[in-house]
Amino acid sequence: MDEKKKIDISVVVPVYNEEENVPLLEQKIHDVLEKLKREYEIIMVDDGSKDRTYAILAELHQFHPRTKVVKFRGNYGQSAAMAAGFEAASGEIVVAMDGDLQNDPTDIPRMLEKLDEGYDVVAGWRKNRKDNMVIRKIPSKIANKIICSITGVKLHDTGCSLKVFRREIIKKVRLYGELHRFIPALAKIEGARITEMAVNHHARQFGKSKYNITRTFRVIMDLTTINLFMKHLKKPIHFFGSIGMTSMFIGSLLVLAMFFQAIIRYAENPDLNVLLTTAFLYIVSGFGFIVLGLLANLIVATGTRKHIYHVDEQDKK
Ligand code: UDP
Ligand code: MG
Repeated sequence: MDEKKKIDISVVVPVYNEEENVPLLEQKIHDVLEKLKREYEIIMVDDGSKDRTYAILAELHQFHPRTKVVKFRGNYGQSAAMAAGFEAASGEIVVAMDGDLQNDPTDIPRMLEKLDEGYDVVAGWRKNRKDNMVIRKIPSKIANKIICSITGVKLHDTGCSLKVFRREIIKKVRLYGELHRFIPALAKIEGARITEMAVNHHARQFGKSKYNITRTFRVIMDLTTINLFMKHLKKPIHFFGSIGMTSMFIGSLLVLAMFFQAIIRYAENPDLNVLLTTAFLYIVSGFGFIVLGLLANLIVATGTRKHIYHVDEQDKK
């Protein structure tokens, strides 16, 4: 074991049912990184694959001790797998990429050079993306525009998994839900200097994409969370407090109005009052739920509960 040596570069790859891709990719990463003559490790995170992915990874670890494997007890999703990989990474620099050969390891050296120019994050930009136009590229372009305008992090392609980070930054980023798409925005909150670089992109040759069009809706919901983080993370009470106070003020006025109405026209039309009160209750409690949800999001992101995944410790390689 050469674990005691200081590691310069950790490459983190989340994989879910990628049995054909994994051995090819692993070899490619070794080929590229060996040439750099720097200490490195590859961390493959098996996100509960149902095919032979884990068995193959375990075998690869036998050949190359620099290839490390984290195995999940179930399928917790790409964000969780990436978070586990970042957690396990000990390199000064952390590279993230997909495990399906759509990203190209040969881009890594150029990205490392770019990072050395004084950045904390170098994000890949799939300038010539090889995915379906209608169901992938167009929704992704639109989503990217919205994400950029809301987060203020101007990138052509926030969705590209191939990214290079400085350790200090990525260790601070907490991922859950499908927040891996928003890593640049989360890094920005931590004060990162971010840049981008055009990278290669290949069509998927083996296996299937793990996502469909419903992802767009989940991304939009995550976006509202991110927006909240970026604007109000430091003082949520200002945000919630002012809405709460306004709501209570309106509520009090309404109650007062109804009270006077009751005195003036008592028993004239009692049904109307019951209806109004019920409606009023619904609106208030509905509002309360929204606020609670937003607050819960903040707690999840900043709270003490660290992980949203469970690692299978016995199968760690
Ligand atoms: N992935 C994962 N867990 C999941 C879904 C995907 O670890 O639940 C991995 C997958 O194996 C791949 C990467 O995340 O390495 C990106 O997934 P995919 O290629 O399906 O996404 P797409 O390129 O179609 O956006
Ligand atoms: Mg892919």
